[in-house]
Amino acid sequence: MKIDLTKSIWNETEESKHFIFYSNGKNVSRIEIDKCENKFNEILSTFKLENEAFKIKYYFCPNLEIVKAITGRKSYGDADLQKKIILSYYAYQPHEIVHHVIYQNIGFYNNLVIDEGLAVLFGSFDDGEAQWRGKTLSYWKKINKLKYKITNQNLIKNFNNIDQKTSYPLSAIYVQNLINKLGVSKFIELYRAKKLF
Ligand SMILES: [Zn+2]
Repeated sequence: MKIDLTKSIWNETEESKHFIFYSNGKNVSRIEIDKCENKFNEILSTFKLENEAFKIKYYFCPNLEIVKAITGRKSYGDADLQKKIILSYYAYQPHEIVHHVIYQNIGFYNNLVIDEGLAVLFGSFDDGEAQWRGKTLSYWKKINKLKYKITNQNLIKNFNNIDQKTSYPLSAIYVQNLINKLGVSKFIELYRAKKLF
């Protein structure tokens, strides 16, 4: 990942408990700041994580051209977990917030099924059932059954070779099933021990 922030001019605009917001023309609204904080707190409390002594630098891009100039590719944004940065076309980017809170507190699992599955499962724009690309996980489950027929084993071994339309929502379903089966405490215990599968 390449986030070269020198390729644009940034103004620090707002600071909240867990975020410092930078803008490039358009400011982040109070509603969006609250959504970011709420998501951050939701992840801390869902997984009973206590270490929250860090802030995310949130660079809000007003248009996709700036995102492309900075990341070097066509996308809606990116995150640098080591530097605690989110760069986004959206003033509220829950998927990346989930990655940050998990990573900063308990590290990555280092398997994309778990890492991306968690971010998809808890990182939807709207509350309610988790979504990927505007469709519910139940929808993706049905599509997989009918069309792709990717097994969990295949997903775990070949995540990078599977289309993101399939790999991301199926990973979220996998993580959801694990959490339902184990409960959150056991899930985190096995996550830390790298023994989820
Ligand atoms: Zn992700």
